[in-house]
Amino acid sequence: MKILVINCGSSSLKYQVIDMTTKNAIGKGLVDRIGLQGSVLTHRTRSGEKHVIKVEIPNHTVAIKLVLEALVSPEYGAIGDLKEICGIGHRVVHGGEKFANSVIINDAVMKALKDCIELAPLHNPPNIAGIKACQKMMPGVPQVAVFDTAFHQSMKPNTYIYGLPYEYYKKYGIRKYGFHGTSHKYVSQRAAVLLKKPLKELKIISCHLGNGASISAIRGGKSIDTSMGFTPLDGLMMGTRSGALDPAIVTYIMCRENLNVDQMNDFLNTKCGALGVSGISSDFRDIEVAAEQGNIRARLALDIFEHDVRQYIGAYAAVLGGVDAIIFTAGVGENASSMREAICKNMEYLGVSIDREKNKVRSEEVDVSKPHARCRVLVIPTNEELMIALDTHELISK
Ligand code: AMP
Repeated sequence: MKILVINCGSSSLKYQVIDMTTKNAIGKGLVDRIGLQGSVLTHRTRSGEKHVIKVEIPNHTVAIKLVLEALVSPEYGAIGDLKEICGIGHRVVHGGEKFANSVIINDAVMKALKDCIELAPLHNPPNIAGIKACQKMMPGVPQVAVFDTAFHQSMKPNTYIYGLPYEYYKKYGIRKYGFHGTSHKYVSQRAAVLLKKPLKELKIISCHLGNGASISAIRGGKSIDTSMGFTPLDGLMMGTRSGALDPAIVTYIMCRENLNVDQMNDFLNTKCGALGVSGISSDFRDIEVAAEQGNIRARLALDIFEHDVRQYIGAYAAVLGGVDAIIFTAGVGENASSMREAICKNMEYLGVSIDREKNKVRSEEVDVSKPHARCRVLVIPTNEELMIALDTHELISK
């Protein structure tokens, strides 16, 4: 059985075809600059061979059409016939409070997704456009929505309600939702496999440290707290996002810099974080190089990030009442061994003790702890696409 996984952004579309027998991607790619000049589809075969198609791509329907053509291309395609695709799984950023699990898409679900646009005005509209395009191009093929927020719906009200008038939760849906749920769910499930223990018995802190970054406290396979909030701006300082701030700073900067609401929103999402502190880049690789060359602000950005992560680990160990495993995943978590080492320094109080040699690993599933360590530290490459395919497969097989 083959599943097509679609992840639509406002001007981009990532896709993968996953063979559910082997759980491997047999073709994948990226459509970039949809609706803009210079649009391009970059398709990769199973062996990683690259094919670039430069053509006008005015909307998501045309993008999907080109993806489907690429997938059945006799020259470099992944499959012989589109009939081989049994289901389509869509990444949907926001499911609000309506979705605690993935769902088969029908008219009622489409309406609910539209209702969530207010909560994710940048993300849900392109997700919906991708679904509509697939419905048009692949009629009759079951489609599934997999939400970034769903995994965190298990949080309790004392975790997700903010210190605001309660009516704002009722009236506007203002609460903590949490994001990166598909990734946190996937790596926590893998951790149980790696540790050969039932997920139900584990207390896990999952650190998804990429350009966007969030941490989750997971007990018995369920999210009980997470660092992102009402939006993906909260929590850790990130590549370009501020992370948590004293809320008074927001109005103070708006007044001082004469910024309107949209400008302030853009500022907090794109000009802050590691980029804003270092003044160099949002990419941790560039920042690490600059810090090694003695750049003080680059060093400061790394130190802030490390401190933020350590702070959440401490907080979530308290929330969980102990921790069996800390997982590092996503770009920084999977690759930056020096950052992992810095974060795990002086954490013996939690039973953390990492092996420097094992910790040199990159993008591989490895337990990097010393044999005696009570709390295991795991590097687990995330695979949101596979998680989406697994959910899709499960739902359409029922
Ligand atoms: P992601 O959002 O998961 O794709 O992660 C992207 C980020 O991971 C990049 O912006 C880099 O900052 C970071 N990254 C990737 N590789 C490395 C590496 N070898 N060392 C440090 N950071 C890395």
